[in-house]
Amino acid sequence: MPELAATLDALAEDATSRCTVCGRCAEVCPTAREVGIDTSDPQHLVRGLIALTADGAGGGEAARWVAACDSSGQCSAVCPEQINVRQWVSIARLRAQEATRDEQSRKQEHARRFRSMSHAVRLLASMQMPSDALTRILAPAERRQAEVLFYTGCNVLKTSHIVFNVMDVLEALGVDFDVVGGPSHCCGVYQFQAGDTDAYDKIGGRTFRRFGQSGASKVLTWCPTCTKNFNEIEVDRAPPSFGLDHVSVFLVSRLDELRAQFVDQPPRRAVIHEHQGITGTRESVRVLMDAIPNLTVVDLPQDSGFSYACGGVAARYVERERDIHRNMAEGAAAVGADLLITTYHSCHRALAGAEASYPFRVANFTDVLAEALGRGQRTDFYKLYKSGGEMSEAVDAARRHLESNGVRVSEDTIAALTDEMFAETGLAGSPHPFREAFAKLAEK
Ligand code: SF4
Ligand code: SF4
Repeated sequence: MPELAATLDALAEDATSRCTVCGRCAEVCPTAREVGIDTSDPQHLVRGLIALTADGAGGGEAARWVAACDSSGQCSAVCPEQINVRQWVSIARLRAQEATRDEQSRKQEHARRFRSMSHAVRLLASMQMPSDALTRILAPAERRQAEVLFYTGCNVLKTSHIVFNVMDVLEALGVDFDVVGGPSHCCGVYQFQAGDTDAYDKIGGRTFRRFGQSGASKVLTWCPTCTKNFNEIEVDRAPPSFGLDHVSVFLVSRLDELRAQFVDQPPRRAVIHEHQGITGTRESVRVLMDAIPNLTVVDLPQDSGFSYACGGVAARYVERERDIHRNMAEGAAAVGADLLITTYHSCHRALAGAEASYPFRVANFTDVLAEALGRGQRTDFYKLYKSGGEMSEAVDAARRHLESNGVRVSEDTIAALTDEMFAETGLAGSPHPFREAFAKLAEK
């Protein structure tokens, strides 16, 4: 296995040597414009990117450019030399971090973010999942024996119905699979973003190696961040012993078998909230939804090129994200949609609460797919929280699941969770039903 530093050096060298400094990548970058960088001389920005890649210093406005990047991938899509510019920008950002921030502060940053994510995931997953399901997901990857590993990543466990939906669909297809994820199998995004490649390797790199140790022939990713990181760091480092696909892409490859099992569905109109940036997922979700009986997908003009998913780095651009979500919901209502379909879990968290004020259901594409197979019907607890509906059902379930997972909540943790969920960009009802219902649970 090549050293990570050597891989990144080689990737950066390849990009800088092939770049013709045409400037197209900087010209189309949505975040450069978002932070007010002057892109009227895009070649100047690219020359800055090259300087930054060399030693992390200089680069002028390019330093701001790489810091602003939300990994939309618009740059890579237009590069005439087929350079993965998004990957190059992330390496330049690493170099800049190494040159301008001390190691201790970078370590503190990723440790804080990782701790906070782990805590929220642990709590929300424990509120929504029985302990046998959670224990199964968290068990070490290298001990699995199935042909296919469905890798959830961490954050989708906050919307556990999505995980169960995918499992339902894989079971319907008769796939020999196991499910693995949680913070102990993190993809290392926090460490990489903070510019700590050693820590990344011990976490994200290790997770990837554990997949190989299991002997699985295929790993199905769910999270777009994990998908991007593994494809742009690990796959370029050494070809893995297994195939790597996003779940949606894999399901399209089994579409005929899915079609054969579809059951009658009511006539519905739907719009899909889309993102570009993760190869194949937008197209695959559309193919899957077009195949659902009696579902008419209405095309809605939308800002799908801004980031590869809602939340994450894109959440820094609060107003832009707000516009995206508001336009999505208003557009869905205007075309008389019965369904607003989300692709990723972070988008689902952002849009699920729209049901509090719009006349359509918000569902993940996995909800729609599993239901069309006569399965699914999983309770979307996160949506109940955000929309303020049927909170007693959510509390009853949480009480049982928290006990079975050996977790106690306190009033402080409920207050922190409420802040976290309702401070996300996106659409939501009032936070009070959630806080009040769960605060009573915390008192017991
Ligand atoms: S990935 Fe997107 S945000 Fe990042 S530099 Fe490329 S175009 Fe800009
Ligand atoms: S689009 Fe490609 S070739 Fe043109 S400046 Fe950007 S990286 Fe270089």
